[in-house]
Formats: sequence, C-alpha cells, structure tokens
Amino acid sequence: MKPRRLVYEGKAKILYEGPEPGTLVQYFKDDTTAFDATKKAVLEGKGVLNNRISEFVMSRLSEIGVPTHFIRRLNMREQLIKEVEIIPLEVVVRNVAAGSLSKRLGIEEGTPLPRSMIEFYYKNDALHDPLVTEEHITGFNWASPQEIDDIVALAIRINDFLSGLFLGIGIKLVDFKVEFGRLWENEFMRVVLADEISPDSCRLWDTKTGEKMDKDRFRRDLGGVTEAYAEVARRLGILNDQTSGDRKGPVLVK
Ligand code: UDP
Repeated sequence: MKPRRLVYEGKAKILYEGPEPGTLVQYFKDDTTAFDATKKAVLEGKGVLNNRISEFVMSRLSEIGVPTHFIRRLNMREQLIKEVEIIPLEVVVRNVAAGSLSKRLGIEEGTPLPRSMIEFYYKNDALHDPLVTEEHITGFNWASPQEIDDIVALAIRINDFLSGLFLGIGIKLVDFKVEFGRLWENEFMRVVLADEISPDSCRLWDTKTGEKMDKDRFRRDLGGVTEAYAEVARRLGILNDQTSGDRKGPVLVK
C-alpha cells in the first residue's frame, strides 16, 4: 500500500488525502497544546476520545439539519470528511463568562451571560488569533456578509442543540469554538461546520459539582484530563461502543 499524501498537519490533527476526490481523512493525535503551543503534552488516548466525541456530536447535528464536513468514522483515530475551504475564523459561542472573556472584560468566571454571545477570532498563529469584528472580516475578504449571516445562524443552532444535549447528561456548555468551511457542489457553494467539536474546543462543567471536564484541566494543570474526556464520552453513551453509527443516546443523569 502506498503511503497516503499528507495534506496538512496541525497541533492536534493531521489531514491526509482521502480515498476519493473531494474527501480527506482526519487523524486525531494525542498531542495537546495550549497558550499558543508554548505548553505541550502527549495525553495517551485523547485522540481516540475526541474522534468518538466529535463523530457523535457532528452526527447528531447533521440529524437536525446542520450541514457538516463529517462523512463517517473510519477507525479509532480517523474519520472521513468532505474537503472544504476553511474560512479563517475561530467562531466562539459563549453562555457563561470564562477564559479570555473574563480576563478581557473583568467578568468573574462562572457568571451567566445575559444572552449567548458570538465572537470571531482571525485564525493566524503568528498574530495569536486576534479578536476581530465583522468590519475586519468583510473588509479583508475573509468571509462575505452572506457567509457571516450563515455562520451566525448555524452557530446559534449548534449552541442551542448542544446546550440541551449536554444539560441532559449533567454538563453545562460554558463556551465552545467552531470552524466553518466552504463546500463546493458543482457551481454552488455552502457554508458547513468543519474541524471538530470535542472537550479540546469546549468548556464543559459538571452541573452539580462545577468540575471542569475539558481542556482547561490541561491548561490549568488540574490533572485527570483524559479521564474527564472519557467521562464526557461515557455520559454521551459512546465509550465502549466500537461500532460506528450504532448509537445509544445520552443517559439521563438524575
Ligand atoms: N478555543 C479553542 N481554540 C482556540 C481558542 C479557544 O478551541 O485556539 C475554545 C476554548 O477551549 C473555549 C472557547 O474556545 O472553549 C473560548 O476560549 P477563550 O476565548 O476563552 O480562550 P482561552 O481562555 O481558551 O485562551
């Protein structure tokens, strides 16, 4: 078998050429980074968990009509995805103050926000992903006004759906980051959800104890990172299920 062509290597994932034109294979690494990759570690099994969690979340979103790049999971660490042109924005949706919002605006972590808030960051490592406005996005042609409208509408639907999904398993969705891509179908283009949704890209707090079940455990040296990710997977009902697409829904936590 000839080696696959590597298309892109990021901090936590690798993209390989897919089996058919217009497809890619997304490989989830165990590598974990924070603070502009100044803090690094290899957390054994993290990639496997994120592959499963992202598969589950993308599949459920697809079922409610959110277009995504996800096709199917291939194995423990890989999923088949549609090749898209990534829009260079990190779209953050917040329900509760935390992280950079708390720091920037002096709002205590854990303060519920008066309404869900969407922020855009320009994806650029050299510039440390700066916060940008719609003026910058349209002015510099990173996305069109129509694309921003589509992104906002999708981000709100994703937030509403995931907030409910996680609440049902005793987890508060504090905030999360998503990325979108342009999917070309003949001469038509549409904006679809891309990248991943996992505890690497969300803040997830246990509703009863307030315990963090996400990457903040790594950022803040709290320990038990993969254990927390595994607990998220377990509550979603996907942990010991090796068959793709065979889902047992989330288990209600009393
Ligand atoms: N986030 C991410 N990738 C990034 C920056 C942020 O996935 O490069 C996620 C982060 O995990 C959190 C949300 O986006 O769930 C908001 O992050 P914030 O702006 O508070 O930044 P941080 O405190 O993580 O630097």
